[in-house]
Amino acid sequence: MDRVQVIGGGLAGTEAAWQLADRGIPVRIFEMRPQVTTSAHRTDRLAEIVCTNSFKSTLPETSSGLLKAELDLLGCRLLGVAREARVPAGHALAVDRDEFSQIVTEVIEKHPLIEVERRCQDDLDVDLPAIIATGPLTADTLSMALQSHCSSDHLYFYDAIAPSIDAETIDPDVGFRASRYDKGDADYLNIPLNEEQYRDLIGRLGSAEVVTPHAFEDAKYFESCLPVEVIVARGPDTLRFGPLKPRGLRNPKTGIEPYAVIQLRQESRNGSLLGMVGFQTRMTYGAQKEVIHSIPGLEKATILRYGSIHRNIFLNLPVLCERYQRDRAIPGLHFAGQICGVEGYVECIMSGLIAALSVFSGIGHREMPLLPDDTMIGALMNYIHTPTKNFQPMNSNMGLLPSRRQRGEGKKDRYTRMSRQAIDSMRGYREAHPWLFDDRSRSAA
Ligand SMILES: Cc1cc2nc3c(=O)[nH]c(=O)nc-3n(C[C@H](O)[C@H](O)[C@H](O)COP(=O)(O)OP(=O)(O)OC[C@H]3O[C@@H](n4cnc5c(N)ncnc54)[C@H](O)[C@@H]3O)c2cc1C
Repeated sequence: MDRVQVIGGGLAGTEAAWQLADRGIPVRIFEMRPQVTTSAHRTDRLAEIVCTNSFKSTLPETSSGLLKAELDLLGCRLLGVAREARVPAGHALAVDRDEFSQIVTEVIEKHPLIEVERRCQDDLDVDLPAIIATGPLTADTLSMALQSHCSSDHLYFYDAIAPSIDAETIDPDVGFRASRYDKGDADYLNIPLNEEQYRDLIGRLGSAEVVTPHAFEDAKYFESCLPVEVIVARGPDTLRFGPLKPRGLRNPKTGIEPYAVIQLRQESRNGSLLGMVGFQTRMTYGAQKEVIHSIPGLEKATILRYGSIHRNIFLNLPVLCERYQRDRAIPGLHFAGQICGVEGYVECIMSGLIAALSVFSGIGHREMPLLPDDTMIGALMNYIHTPTKNFQPMNSNMGLLPSRRQRGEGKKDRYTRMSRQAIDSMRGYREAHPWLFDDRSRSAA
């Protein structure tokens, strides 16, 4: 049987390879690291997590919780690893980054049907079937080849990374441990700010020196990952109603909600590394040091990883591809991950899984059955395959699901109802197409 070539051993590529190999299809992964690396990756491991360690909420009535529940029904592999490498973060699924990528690397490298070749793919001249899953930081050579293949300008935006702090260097007397509304096990370290301290921070952020994008590029940011100084530029209170909101975080020392709160989330299993939640930034390293050291409790903090911005490319998928992420011009070529216009770790994993199901269907000379519209995965797939004037990446959100508001129904009840409906539909999909899920390593979810 021909091998499937998977270009890029990131989140989407490893999920796709693992899914195919567990269905008895041999796979070869081309991964360019360590020979060629990106501005965000730090290791040579597969499925490296480049920024926050959070895979977001697990609550089924939230969009990301629903996406996870559907992925579990489809037998997602990387979500299982995320749970193995889980660190405490309330209702969020947060992972120890190193442990996560270490486990995925070991499983993939030991899989009898997967070969990993460390080399950069420079063009589209690949043996088919193939899945291109080279991510938002695709190597320049392949990026140019994709640009001419699409016969249109590359689409792009900027993504920002938040700084991480050495937990031992934080003043233990300043913060308090709690999860918002006491959901979870007090997993966050919260630094309370009074009004004066908040205004001081806003002033510093507003005048901090930033790294500017290239002169020929507009600074287009992804709305749910805005740099902190860009949020500040929208108004002095925007940050206090955004990432620094104090709601549900009563300070046990005073018994009241602070004026604003900076949250730090555990990023390593031993708790030594804490990430500044919502503090993604394009400030220069010098400015980051100055701003962070001005925050109460962080005066002597050691910054183990500085925040940064990165250009993030994606394809005009609705024009380029038919369902599911299948190139219109080159039969047997699929795309997966962030370059398809899905945004977020779990969304990229999902896209890898769907590409694998589509390739698997093609190998068996079948069409992949259409995913139900009322599921989060079906809705996201609809989004990335529907042509629009200004195609932009999308993460899972309840607004994508078709649903009529019922009289007198509150938001929480509506989301719970939509979520139940979606899970039922996805369960039905799985039961209706057993051949698609007849993998050799796991029983049906
Ligand atoms: C700076 C930055 C910060 C982000 N922060 C977050 C965040 O906090 N939360 C979130 O949910 N999402 C975030 N994202 C978005 C996205 O979820 C991640 O980038 C995710 O890892 C994308 O998954 P992927 O599989 O598409 O690509 P990746 O995981 O990046 O995998 C692509 C792989 O392909 C390899 N590769 C690239 N070109 C070639 C080539 N030519 N030949 C061979 N191999 C190649 C790369 O080395 C890499 O291993 C961020 C993205 C960026 C760029």
